[in-house]
Amino acid sequence: MNKSEHCFDRARKILVGGVNSPVRSFAGVGGHPLFIKKAQGAYLWDVDGKRYIDFVQSWGAMILGHSHSEVTRAATQALKLGASYGACHEREVILAELIRQAFPKTIERVRMMSSGTEAAMTALRIARGATGRDMIVKFAGGYHGHHDSLLASAGSGALTLGIPSCKGVPKAWTKTTIVAPYNDPDAVEKIFKRYGGQIAAVIVEPVACNMGLVLPQPGFLETLRRVTERHGGLLVFDEVITGFRLKWGGLSDKYNADLVCLGKIIGGGFPVGTVGGKKEFMELLAPCGPVYHAGTLSGNPIAVTAGIKTLEILKRDDPYGRMEAKTKKLAASIADAAKNQGIACQVHQIGSLLTVFFTDSRVDDYESAKKTDTKIFSKLFWGLIKSGVYWPSSNFEACFLGAAHSDNDLRLIIAAVNESLKTLQI
Ligand SMILES: *Cc1c(COP(=O)(O)O)cnc(C)c1O
Repeated sequence: MNKSEHCFDRARKILVGGVNSPVRSFAGVGGHPLFIKKAQGAYLWDVDGKRYIDFVQSWGAMILGHSHSEVTRAATQALKLGASYGACHEREVILAELIRQAFPKTIERVRMMSSGTEAAMTALRIARGATGRDMIVKFAGGYHGHHDSLLASAGSGALTLGIPSCKGVPKAWTKTTIVAPYNDPDAVEKIFKRYGGQIAAVIVEPVACNMGLVLPQPGFLETLRRVTERHGGLLVFDEVITGFRLKWGGLSDKYNADLVCLGKIIGGGFPVGTVGGKKEFMELLAPCGPVYHAGTLSGNPIAVTAGIKTLEILKRDDPYGRMEAKTKKLAASIADAAKNQGIACQVHQIGSLLTVFFTDSRVDDYESAKKTDTKIFSKLFWGLIKSGVYWPSSNFEACFLGAAHSDNDLRLIIAAVNESLKTLQI
């Protein structure tokens, strides 16, 4: 038994399922998860001392790579000034100003909190408060955290583990949630025809990242904007992944969203979430208005300091073009490798995000994503682990390339994918 296996056996006796977040358990691919000892740049080391090129990057949060020297220095200095004040401080204002700068059309006011889950929950509360309506529309396979009303047909770990809807959520809650197929403007039009006057908001990942990567088809996001506007509902963009991932800023400005949820990257690896939007909606929040939100650790000084440094570096170094070029190359190489082995697949890529679906049909939504051959995926996953590549342990998660991945890392991963797919055929 290696050290990771030993750790997991011990963990299972105290932590539920041995983990603190389901997707970490490797349950979808069947096996013991790795236990990580340290992380630097593009790499993770497990407790057995083996190095992995990391294509998870803490689910996208570590866009600059792990333990980035400037972010680490800033966070360490911040810690010396106190871990939490439970009071106002200047750095939360600085991060909020940076975020507003990056979303000049969408964001006039910002509220910070501690997770993406909290951001999505708060955005919907604002939308319900603003409209006096209860219903929301979400998309099958869309993940917005584990908040009650959003767990109907959720993606990410809930999808990997085949949990269609969550026990413990009152029926009354999911009754106010309408689930539509992603990329289906006609379905959305129909829903609005029937329930338009009762719908407070549509919440959507503008690029779906939690059923594997699924790109929005032309016109889909425009339809969401049009119908919400026509019927007086709010359009909420969940950019917890896409925010600062595809460019400095996000997609909300382009599609004229009303509220935007952020998380992951804006905390530089610390727990964080944010809602931003027009003043008229945001100032419904307490202490300005009647919609309540609060948090002991909201705007935590260490998290916002790491976030400020991360955003400053992204702005200064503009790594997006380089990350995209590398990811494009990786996508093409994987498609070639699969073709050479006669394995049907759809390689989806945008910016530094990538997913390989093992199916010969198009993947545009949750139903088609589920057709991926997860057995091939599992074999590829374990082949990659053997070669020292840490890939998301579920086909329904995106892979994340970061600014720290080198050309040599790319060569190693491409060789590992080739090797892995070859052994699949034997
Ligand atoms: C990760 C994620 C969340 C939840 O964020 P947490 O910080 O894990 O609560 C919400 N929405 C999207 C799109 C995400 O990817």
